[in-house]
Amino acid sequence: MERILCLLHTQSDGTLSQLALETLTVSSTTAAQLPDAVLLVGILGTATQQAATQIGSCGANQFFIAEDPALEKGSYHNDTNAAEAIAKAAQATIIFAPADSRFNRMISGMAIRLNGRADTHAVAVAADNGTLTISRWYYRQRIIAQQTRQQRPWVISIESDTAAPWKGDSKTVDATTVSFAVDANTKVIGTIAPENTVQTIKPDSPLLFVAGAGWCKKQSDGQTHLLEAESLILDFVNRSGASLGSSKSLVDQNSEGEAVLGCLTHMNQVGQTGSTPRHPKGLATCCHGEEPHTVGWRFITQRRAINTDANCGWARGKTDVLYVADAFKVMKILNDLLK
Ligand SMILES: Cc1cc2nc3c(=O)[nH]c(=O)nc-3n(C[C@H](O)[C@H](O)[C@H](O)COP(=O)(O)OP(=O)(O)OC[C@H]3O[C@@H](n4cnc5c(N)ncnc54)[C@H](O)[C@@H]3O)c2cc1C
Repeated sequence: MERILCLLHTQSDGTLSQLALETLTVSSTTAAQLPDAVLLVGILGTATQQAATQIGSCGANQFFIAEDPALEKGSYHNDTNAAEAIAKAAQATIIFAPADSRFNRMISGMAIRLNGRADTHAVAVAADNGTLTISRWYYRQRIIAQQTRQQRPWVISIESDTAAPWKGDSKTVDATTVSFAVDANTKVIGTIAPENTVQTIKPDSPLLFVAGAGWCKKQSDGQTHLLEAESLILDFVNRSGASLGSSKSLVDQNSEGEAVLGCLTHMNQVGQTGSTPRHPKGLATCCHGEEPHTVGWRFITQRRAINTDANCGWARGKTDVLYVADAFKVMKILNDLLK
């Protein structure tokens, strides 16, 4: 009999993230599919009782909470101590956790302490004929593998978009408080994040907007128009709520000392040596659509591109619609429509 623990952490406002709710869907679906499986929920952080209430009607047999101000922001030591204590109290055999940066850096350490094994970045979970399998990508999303394990506990971190976020009524639950050793030597004294990308990278947005190097190239009047380019891009991103991606060529110009768009860093880069974001729709502008870039579009379902060159890479089966047009003009019209 599997004891399935959905291990979550609260956000700084005491709520659960969308990825946490998606992980809960995976956990409860798996518990329903595996014979005699028991669903358990563990929450660490602050305001954990509030978070437990938020998902109180999820059908879990038991809730475990570990709460301390030291868990407000993620730190490896305290998160691992709390998670280990919850997993032991729950006697978990399978542990699902959101594949966010906070838990991804902690779960392998926790698995070793529990004499278990961890697999990160699962994108699908199936429980056919009583056997649990996960799917995960390898070699920069070129090979997908289905895996199973005999070892227990088996810790699995779940990627975003693997399941729909759990929805249900809030309900007060009688959660078991788990104590753990707080490491007084570990303190989170601040967060350093790339200033420019904090607001522009939005993994949950329905739209990815990609800016390519063409925005910084000389246009038909023989001049570059960097200020106008940046204003058009940011205006669109702010009005539409799109996540801002970039090609490598554009962000590389930054490190090469050329004039660039200040709103972009390497964190925005999409592609083979960049990120592989997941959004239902994508719009590429002033980007050629070469394979090392478009490979990062693997999980973008509906694709459109704007390029002055009708023979650009996008035209070769990489996009659903290619607008052969000047992106400066198109984005201005689009922004006016969005006003
Ligand atoms: C090992 C390796 C890994 C790589 N990894 C990545 C990666 O992760 N991500 C990545 O992006 N690239 C990657 N590259 C680089 C990739 O091959 C391309 O060089 C890069 O994507 C090109 O960027 P770009 O399309 O923005 O620029 P360009 O190739 O310079 O294209 C600019 C485009 O803008 C268009 N344009 C100009 N003005 C306008 C206008 N007014 N309106 C509309 N269109 C206009 C032009 O027609 C042109 O097509 C990698 C390369 C290698 C070798």
